[in-house]
Amino acid sequence: MLVVGLTGGIGAGKSTVARMFAARGIEVFDADAVAHRLLEPGQPAFKAVVRAFGSGILDADGGLDRAALRRRVFAEPKSRRRLEGIVHPLVYAELARLVLGAAGSYCLLCVPLLLETGRRRFVDRLLVVDCPETVQIERVVRRSGLQPEEVRAIIAAQVSRSERLAAADDVIVNAADPASLEAEVDALHRRYSVLAAA
Ligand code: ADP
Repeated sequence: MLVVGLTGGIGAGKSTVARMFAARGIEVFDADAVAHRLLEPGQPAFKAVVRAFGSGILDADGGLDRAALRRRVFAEPKSRRRLEGIVHPLVYAELARLVLGAAGSYCLLCVPLLLETGRRRFVDRLLVVDCPETVQIERVVRRSGLQPEEVRAIIAAQVSRSERLAAADDVIVNAADPASLEAEVDALHRRYSVLAAA
């Protein structure tokens, strides 16, 4: 099984590209979705996070108050590192388990923070979705209602565009109409199928 990592800055178009591979029958696993699942009550990350941060981060129903946790780790870098130290290893372990069960000749792991977490070698090949920062900001503001400064702060906390491009084996530039990506995804799909068979 060839494991292709898909990464890119916020709003670059990772989910859009991931959906196009999925439409071609490729299994796609999303690290953010895995993290979200692992933080559901009773799941391993949930238990460890409650042990570390106390019941003050629970909501009235006993679930994780994700907004409260976000505020806390945003305000305290030490708490953020602690949270990441709990969640990231569990997410990668779960991704490894999902890859083992995947069908097909290759699969795609959408991991927004692959490079930030120092896990380049977790995947065999890296596909980066890229676009100019101004476009990222516009898209995220439209999608989320965040202020442009807030999006800029998120971008500043991620690896730089040039570092990401330097780590890439393949790059999709997503700066025009999303329909124009289909042909690029087709070409990469063919290439990955050939590489997986080799
Ligand atoms: P990411 O997963 O990298 O954060 P998304 O694929 O969710 O990015 O795209 C961010 C937002 O921009 C979404 O609302 C998406 O529909 C929109 N979008 C993505 N690509 C394009 C594009 N080429 N043109 C216009 N809007 C786009």
